[in-house]
Amino acid sequence: MPDSLTPIIEAPAELRTTILSALNIFPRSSARLSGIKIKATKRDNSVEVVVSGVEGEAVGIAKDPFPTDKRWSTNDIARRWGELAKTASVKALSVYTGENLYWGSLEGVRPSNLWRLLRQRGFSNQETELILNSIYGVATEKTQLLKELYLKQEKMVFADNNSISLYIGIPFCPTRCAYCSFTAYPLKTHGHLKKPYLEALYYELAELRDYFVQKRVAVKSIYIGGGTPTALEAEELRQIFSLLPETEEFTVEAGRPDTIDRAKLLVMKEAKVDRISVNPQTLKESTLKLIGRKHTIEDFYKAVDLVREIGIPVMNIDLIAGLPGENAEDMDNTLERILALKPENVTVHTLAAKRASTWYKELDRWPLPSSLETEKMVVNAANKLNQAGLHPYYLYRQRHMAANLENVGYALEGQECYYNIVMIEELNTVVGAGAGASTRVVNQAIERIVNPKCPATYANRVADLLNAKKNNLDRLFLV
Ligand code: SF4
Repeated sequence: MPDSLTPIIEAPAELRTTILSALNIFPRSSARLSGIKIKATKRDNSVEVVVSGVEGEAVGIAKDPFPTDKRWSTNDIARRWGELAKTASVKALSVYTGENLYWGSLEGVRPSNLWRLLRQRGFSNQETELILNSIYGVATEKTQLLKELYLKQEKMVFADNNSISLYIGIPFCPTRCAYCSFTAYPLKTHGHLKKPYLEALYYELAELRDYFVQKRVAVKSIYIGGGTPTALEAEELRQIFSLLPETEEFTVEAGRPDTIDRAKLLVMKEAKVDRISVNPQTLKESTLKLIGRKHTIEDFYKAVDLVREIGIPVMNIDLIAGLPGENAEDMDNTLERILALKPENVTVHTLAAKRASTWYKELDRWPLPSSLETEKMVVNAANKLNQAGLHPYYLYRQRHMAANLENVGYALEGQECYYNIVMIEELNTVVGAGAGASTRVVNQAIERIVNPKCPATYANRVADLLNAKKNNLDRLFLV
């Protein structure tokens, strides 16, 4: 940004950094925000921000509703003025740009962590809602959603602190989708890496299984993701399954419908896989082509029929709101057809513009729906899913999501995926095996160990990576 267009900030020195960070939440409006003036004033327990520029003037105020409360920690109090200045700036910028910001000044992946933290501090659900709204600018729709998730997750997970989960990454896909930022190598170009990769993975899984036995660790859930696990052959899947420990919940993210066939599903059934994801993302054929999914709607229906026929008990279907060329009517249409299939789980993602995706550099050229249209898609989807008995049970956010929204997993009562909750909320230890898999050791603090994304690097370094992981886990399992 040329100096002449850099915002002019009139504010106490200690508020300047967080005021500037508020501007990062408005990447779509950065051109309109060039040269604006931001004036911040501290008042009793609150900060007022006035934004002015060629488009007029807008005011935002953020306030601490419990300024002298003993439940705040010293760190909470030290951060408070900065938080208020950021939220007041976000509110003023939101009015100035017309961008609706449901999550206020919160930018993290896990807004539900803040809810849990405040409850642990001793604030009631009602007080927590007020704090999120008043200090962080979170809209009532989202505080209600966080409360619903907290109450549900509390029953499912909080009483259980002594088990771990296992994640296995399969970093291959038939082709790469335009929006993808995952560890996913197209088999057409990277198929030669598959054999050495699988040999390394078999080694790591066998070692981990022995380690869990030695440490007497219960593996409560297993999740195989990627990439597309069903891009592997049935026999390769069988070999992986044969190396896994006993578990209570076993999920395979099949992902691309065109990779699912009878032989693979029969291998899954035999291995007691009880949850599978089949992910069309949309049921509009032209969008599938545009985003490079390279499968048809017919492929999706065939895959669903097979899953039902073979009897994998829980089926999840992933959808994306905000895809190029789509409007709320398209999303409604997709959702109605999905609900007719009576899935036990549906996950509604909002499109995120990720740097690692192939379309990131030319984002402006894609016919993306407006923020308002994407909001409509997400709101309609939530209403339809709730009416069908599917309720939210986990949520996460990413940077640069369309309309600054979120991804939400919905489930029929009792059919929630335990792994999704513990992984997103970082409530229990998750051990990751395979390329790009991350291990999170939840002890007093959370430690992360991430395997390299490149299948070849992973294969070359697997023994060293495994030893480092075991050393770290040893501190958790002091047997
Ligand atoms: S199927 Fe999923 S993991 Fe594979 S390229 Fe597409 S978005 Fe990425």
